[in-house]
Amino acid sequence: MKPIFPGTVSANGQPATLGVMGGGQLGRMFVHAAQRLGFETVVLDPDPQSPAGLVSHQQLQTAYNDEAGLKQLASLCDAVTTEFENVPAASLNTLAATLPVAPSAACVAIAQNRIEEKAHFTACAGVSGVSVAPYAVIETLEQLQAVPAHLLPGILKTARMGYDGKGQVRVKNAAELAAAWADLKSVACVLEKLMPLKAECSVIVARGFNGSVVSFAPQRNVHVDGILAVTHAYPSNMHSAQSIRAQAATESIAHHINYVGVLCVEFFIVDDGSAHGGLIVNEMAPRPHNSGHYTMDACDVSQFDLQVHAMAGLPLPTPRQHSPAIMLNLLGDVWFDAAGKPRTPDWQAVLSLPGTHLHLYGKQGARPGRKMGHLNITGADVDTVKSVARRAADMLGLPGLDH
Ligand code: ADP
Ligand code: MG
Repeated sequence: MKPIFPGTVSANGQPATLGVMGGGQLGRMFVHAAQRLGFETVVLDPDPQSPAGLVSHQQLQTAYNDEAGLKQLASLCDAVTTEFENVPAASLNTLAATLPVAPSAACVAIAQNRIEEKAHFTACAGVSGVSVAPYAVIETLEQLQAVPAHLLPGILKTARMGYDGKGQVRVKNAAELAAAWADLKSVACVLEKLMPLKAECSVIVARGFNGSVVSFAPQRNVHVDGILAVTHAYPSNMHSAQSIRAQAATESIAHHINYVGVLCVEFFIVDDGSAHGGLIVNEMAPRPHNSGHYTMDACDVSQFDLQVHAMAGLPLPTPRQHSPAIMLNLLGDVWFDAAGKPRTPDWQAVLSLPGTHLHLYGKQGARPGRKMGHLNITGADVDTVKSVARRAADMLGLPGLDH
């Protein structure tokens, strides 16, 4: 595709404009990156208070499948991306009829469905060298009854619409499995064997329309109650051979489906008796990812910069991490004291710590579990970053740093 240069004006007087489906925090940080480069932005999101809509040149306040809204988005933009995987694939296809859309509807559709996602990872396993956890597809009563015993205990996950641990039930035996599937209204699911996790990591890559790919080094992630709590981003965060394997696997997973845009792939490091553990691929997100937020302050190019470059057909700069970093996720819980009384977190204390970078998403109304922002901590060396992160986590009462 022909590159879309920021700051240019088309023959009909329209400035170079990038659009995003979805107005959450990922859309907001995309808008910031696009605007910094000189693009105008349009956000499509039905919510009048959407974090991205509040900072964008324009917001189209329509449903994601609204024909008029999509038509207007296509007419205002030179290219469109998405910030959440549950965007209707049909809407991306509609947009793709008249302008570049990255990632494509076909790629997003794979990430929307755990059954297709696992089939994709399995198809790549020969090249990527990494397989998925043992699993079974459960769409019918017959499949439920045929689940082999070695998959239990396991985690039953809805094929669609799961995120942050939602739509998942841990089951110990066949009876619990049957009850859990009934609780989930017998929708299409996968049952995954419960794996002995040593650690979790993720890799973020960006791939261009021309097939070129650049990557960030793998980051190690700690989840608490199914939600990302902490990301460790420095070379000693995991064994280097494993880090190289995870990065190569992610690139092959992107190439295999001709993916264009930013892609995040999550991995488990499981205890398989070996010294450093085995690598298992878990799931992918067709967009920038919470585990890549450290790139905003620790790298010369962030995951959002790469999202902008990829969708606009601009060259993809190889990102360089200049500082070790730890990211602490800030959920709404931080806005309440131990007695449940609303409070303002002690930013005075937190921001007086060296190397702290606060990012709040402009959301009104903190609720427990709601992603309100994140705190990046960078420093000259890993030990400094760890000790500042410890102090910040203690001040804010944040979990997960000791894992
Ligand atoms: P989500 O879409 O909610 O992120 P995931 O499949 O990534 O769903 O699961 C959320 C978390 O649950 C994972 O990060 C991991 O901590 C845990 N988990 C998921 N699947 C397994 C498994 N098969 N074995 C052990 N832990 C798991
Ligand atoms: Mg996940």
